[in-house]
Amino acid sequence: MRACQTIGEQSMRYSQFGLTTLKETPAEAEVVSHQLMLRAGMIRRLTSGIFTWMPLGLRVVRRVETIVREELDRAGALEVLMPAVQPAELWQESGRWDEYGGLLLRISDRHDRNFCFGPTHEEVITDIARRELKSYKQLPINWYQIQTKFRDEIRPRFGVMRAREFVMKDAYSFDLDADGLEAAYQRMHDAYTAIFERLGLSFRIVDADSGEIGGNRSQEFHVIADSGEDAIAYCDADGYASNVESAATLRPVGERPAATHDLEKVATPGVRTIEALCEHLGVSATQTLKTLIVEGVDRPVALVLRGDHDLNTVKAQKINGVASPLTMADGKTLEAAGTVAGFAGPIGFDIPVYFDHAVANMADFVVGANETDAHYTGANFGRDLGEPETVDLRNVVEGDPVPGGQGTLELARGIEVGHIFQLGTKYSEAMGARVLDQDGKERLLEMGCYGIGITRIVAAAIEQNHDENGIVWPDPLTPFDVVIVPINLHRSDAVREVAEDLYEQLATAGLAVLLDDRDARPGVKFADAELIGIPHRLVVSDRGLANGELEYRHRRDPESRNIKREEALNLLAR
Ligand code: ATP
Ligand code: MG
Repeated sequence: MRACQTIGEQSMRYSQFGLTTLKETPAEAEVVSHQLMLRAGMIRRLTSGIFTWMPLGLRVVRRVETIVREELDRAGALEVLMPAVQPAELWQESGRWDEYGGLLLRISDRHDRNFCFGPTHEEVITDIARRELKSYKQLPINWYQIQTKFRDEIRPRFGVMRAREFVMKDAYSFDLDADGLEAAYQRMHDAYTAIFERLGLSFRIVDADSGEIGGNRSQEFHVIADSGEDAIAYCDADGYASNVESAATLRPVGERPAATHDLEKVATPGVRTIEALCEHLGVSATQTLKTLIVEGVDRPVALVLRGDHDLNTVKAQKINGVASPLTMADGKTLEAAGTVAGFAGPIGFDIPVYFDHAVANMADFVVGANETDAHYTGANFGRDLGEPETVDLRNVVEGDPVPGGQGTLELARGIEVGHIFQLGTKYSEAMGARVLDQDGKERLLEMGCYGIGITRIVAAAIEQNHDENGIVWPDPLTPFDVVIVPINLHRSDAVREVAEDLYEQLATAGLAVLLDDRDARPGVKFADAELIGIPHRLVVSDRGLANGELEYRHRRDPESRNIKREEALNLLAR
């Protein structure tokens, strides 16, 4: 008992930690972080997208929170804790009660009043601001919280990475003018950079489309991982990085080659996809055009891309006359537009047609003939159809030129772990949040919002740091710094004495120590230590002790090595 009192709260005996690890990979887990978090006993699923953080997992969450809190405090932000449940009236004021759609979990109380479980807190914080802030003298101010959010995601998946209930750090800045907002935004940009560096993660800052929240400048922080849901386009030489969603493409330079073929209608029975077309005609997708008919505001619109390119829905939605959200035309609309599914093409259309920039220099291409089982080959602009009006319609691909810069783009996958946003006066205007300026005039507050996915970071860190045996924690995130594995603990007095001694010594030195005091085979203990991913492992055995030695291995080392018993503290002390 006495020993327990002197030992730091962070240290634990395995036998008292209630940890259950799993040997088998749970079938429901698609990505490695989800599999390992379940196997290591970090989380347990309650229902779709909703998880319990078990003691081991919660330690990692707390470590993330501590670093986030320290850096936000350092940047001058003030911690608050807002309610999770928010009245519908606030969301009606901002207009988002109707706009937010299915993501918003709506609830009602016993008096039939409507509420939502907060997916984000712009409304609540703007309500605070309009009540608390009266004068420019109270500015600048930045309030943040670390709190549970709920978003009724269409496809909750990847465990805590895309959950319905999750923990977010959200911060909101208020300034008198655009310069103030710019400075507040820059402070958060720098604080986020410090946070992700301290967390020991490899990340990229990318330009982002401002998407639904609406407003001005916006950047995302992505942890780089092959399993990431987001595609990032970057060029290190140029310093360019952007979410593929918002990366611009340019009209190609140079001349279009002259036409060398005649226009010819060819039979293409049952050929409804670009792949089938290429196979049928023996051409490359780069010689074909893909024509998509989408619903328009008053009449359908044709969007035409090179066959191998993908439509970017964010860009398409911004085109005048295109209905938002982007909706593919149904059979009836296609008929009205004078075409059929699978065989649409821009020749002879009298609906608005937008071509992607990339088709500008194409000649002798293949297009649908607007009748079942037929395409045209040898089609050319200027001769068979008008000169193309080109716009930016597609996703960038590897090798595209850097927009507005030098060099070519590379693509990577990322997990969005942070997002910073200049909102401007969107919410202050909708909700009437004003202060008096130096001249005694009322001014709308300039607002920024800044999110970090606390619980998503835990999963993202594992995606980036694991091997075939389990998690490999970066030091700043690990639930325990060191695991002591005694061999034959229950049969050898010498082993027990040294293991207990080490435990007390290392814990007293401030390390988070896990003492594996289970009466289990060494193989079981080693496998669990590797699965859980603890950076340092010390093995205490009779054989080693005969030479006054322990066996040490870092989780990243291929082999263990012997060290003197006395060296342990020096080796591990931070
Ligand atoms: P996503 O594009 O991944 O759906 P978002 O852009 O809608 O995320 P934001 O509103 O920017 O998310 O929220 C701030 C941060 O909260 C995100 O950067 C992300 O790290 C985290 N986050 C958002 N949705 C989830 C979720 N369903 N599960 C876990 N974390 C999430
Ligand atoms: Mg975001």
